[in-house]
Amino acid sequence: MALRKIITSENPILRQKAKKVHRFDPSLQKLVDDMFETMHDANGVGLAAPQIGMSIRIFVAEYEDRRVAVFNPEIVKAEGEALGTEGCLSIPGYAGDNIRRAVKVVVKGQDVRGKSIRLNAEGWFARILQHEIDHLNGILFIDRLDRPEDLRELPPAEDLQEENIALVE
Ligand code: ZN
Repeated sequence: MALRKIITSENPILRQKAKKVHRFDPSLQKLVDDMFETMHDANGVGLAAPQIGMSIRIFVAEYEDRRVAVFNPEIVKAEGEALGTEGCLSIPGYAGDNIRRAVKVVVKGQDVRGKSIRLNAEGWFARILQHEIDHLNGILFIDRLDRPEDLRELPPAEDLQEENIALVE
């Protein structure tokens, strides 16, 4: 495994719509392993491929007992609405408050071998999945702020550099 470099928001790759994965060759397992390792190293709970400079539709996420690597994800059902606070490994030092997300989502996609998968998620895990899928569409949490004052700089001691640092429902 190897750590990959996490790119930050001024990099235009983060603004591109990432491409679908069509070929599921065995080298993808190494990429997934690297993404988990990079995410853990940065104390994150999610990481999308564009954040390591690859504009392809893959993300990894881990929260409590859920650990997923999803290829070509699509939200097929979304229910409810909640406001919450999010951070992003690509926007270090900042958090956004009152970010609106669905409370429950169903996500369809494929696993590392190309097999179809379906995930049901709720609460913080659902928020993480929505944040990561946004990355695949070139969207950052700062785009979802209703008011500019909802973006705040974190004091250095609080700068955990975590993806989705908190959830306030
Ligand atoms: Zn992010």
